[in-house]
Amino acid sequence: MAARLIVWAPQAWVDGRWHFGVVLTVDASGCWSSVTPGYGQAPEQATRLLGPVLPGLVDAHGHAFQRAFAGLTEQRFQMRDDFWAWRDRMYQVAQRLSPALLKAVAAQCFVELLAGGYTHRCEFHYLRGGSELSNDAGEWRMEEALIEAAEETGIGLTICPVLYERSGFTSFGLKPQQQSFRLDAAGVWRVAQRIHALAHERVSAGLAIHSLRAASADSIAQLVRLAVDVDWPIHIHVAEQTQEVDDCLAATGMRPVQWLARMNRLDSRWHLVHATHSDPEEIDAVAAAGASVVICPSTEANLGDGLTDVPRWLKAGVPISIGSDSEIGRDWREEFRWLELGQRLVRRERGVCAEPTTWTSPAERLFEGGLGAGSAAAGLAGSGLRVGARADLLVADPLDSVLLGLPPERMLDALVFSSPVKPWRDVMVAGQWVIRDGHHPFASSAAERFVSAMKVIWEEPIT
Ligand SMILES: [Zn+2]
Repeated sequence: MAARLIVWAPQAWVDGRWHFGVVLTVDASGCWSSVTPGYGQAPEQATRLLGPVLPGLVDAHGHAFQRAFAGLTEQRFQMRDDFWAWRDRMYQVAQRLSPALLKAVAAQCFVELLAGGYTHRCEFHYLRGGSELSNDAGEWRMEEALIEAAEETGIGLTICPVLYERSGFTSFGLKPQQQSFRLDAAGVWRVAQRIHALAHERVSAGLAIHSLRAASADSIAQLVRLAVDVDWPIHIHVAEQTQEVDDCLAATGMRPVQWLARMNRLDSRWHLVHATHSDPEEIDAVAAAGASVVICPSTEANLGDGLTDVPRWLKAGVPISIGSDSEIGRDWREEFRWLELGQRLVRRERGVCAEPTTWTSPAERLFEGGLGAGSAAAGLAGSGLRVGARADLLVADPLDSVLLGLPPERMLDALVFSSPVKPWRDVMVAGQWVIRDGHHPFASSAAERFVSAMKVIWEEPIT
């Protein structure tokens, strides 16, 4: 296949380390067709990139609508503020979102994710838009809103429709404020198939189960049966809260991850979101099954979820991707920083996610692991700057003050741990530039529409 684009990077992150003078070519399908280090100068026909180049990262878990209240749940009005109090406020915002409002909020969120270095997003999607949209035609309007927002902004998108059918382990139905999230296993399968049938260049389908508390064992089994012949990723929120672990123990006699493992649910398609409160046996069970975890450090900190045992996950060899989840953080550098710093604070040591004989840099180890795990979470073929992987890249701004005077081999350490950092100078998705010289062509109109949407959403105060 003929090269569609040729670029030259002064340095680029290839196969887990920095290489210098790298020529990359993009084929007509938007994938890398060659990656060749060792060119001291840019070949004549190549576009010369101006800073260090990294592959784009997948944001493996998020809910775009939650961008509408980032920064707006930070005041405490009751004796106890925790995940459950936050969730009540989140429900109120969710009820107010029409497809048009969701599109405006998602577009703003996606522009910001691109500027923060995410070139693809796994959307854990349970907004069904209220009862008037829950017929067959309406079932699709929220997905259309997300797809249009992705098309306008240029980000890649894996939409994971969510199995959501009860409010707790011992409930048979949903609370009034959860009714609009309702989707059974057959519905999840139908929506996912419809997304898949689009054969869209940058939008694909995954499957999701909200949590063990929100889906029965029978429904989970039904979804797994329906999906037996596809290799689409399966996402589930699990063990985010200690109360969820206690409730699961009371209802089943097993902890959540333990339950998934004992029911033989886990395999390499599964991506356990949070899995914060997993014990060593559960971590080993996830490793044995070949499943992965998605850690969302800024959200888990913001919601007071707790800290998972990251070194134990790493030691077990479980792939770790990262997610922005509640959208209070929209930059992967911040997520990796907090992933490591949280561990330092509780363990009173440094370099917790490093390994002196293999990976001396926590930033490099977490980033390289996140590349592969994130691509798997999105169902993408290949990852990183490798032949066959989608041609997604980020160019750091060489004038970013955190990079000034640094040895080139330490750039990734500085980008993660020396804050603040500037947005990425250039961002490419599938061989096409979506941000050039810090400018996204859609950014100002997205911001305008977002401000208008916020006025509507917040017309009435949320308590
Ligand atoms: Zn989530």
